[in-house]
Amino acid sequence: MVAFYDEIEIEDMAWDPEKGVFHYPCPCGDRFEISRSQLANYEDVATCPSCSLIVRVIYDPLDFEDEKPEDGESEDEDSGSDGDQFEDAMEKLAISDTPTVPVSP
Ligand SMILES: [Zn+2]
Repeated sequence: MVAFYDEIEIEDMAWDPEKGVFHYPCPCGDRFEISRSQLANYEDVATCPSCSLIVRVIYDPLDFEDEKPEDGESEDEDSGSDGDQFEDAMEKLAISDTPTVPVSP
């Protein structure tokens, strides 16, 4: 079992063009890192080099499948937030109360 400290969306991570990694601050003071090539290999675990914490990166592997040299296109993406919360609609289980039929002598 792998216990992730947290799940981070790739949009919430910062890109480090010098090291070629996405990073996200770790509570220990360091930062989680995952390289673009890792993402291209369908790896979604960002690790912190200073502690043992790991986070799961939420991303679309298709975005990283091909490492394109040119990187300037801005894609129109509808970022619809799925923040719907389920109402606490407790469905009452209809327990069929079969009345015991009195046995008539
Ligand atoms: Zn750490």
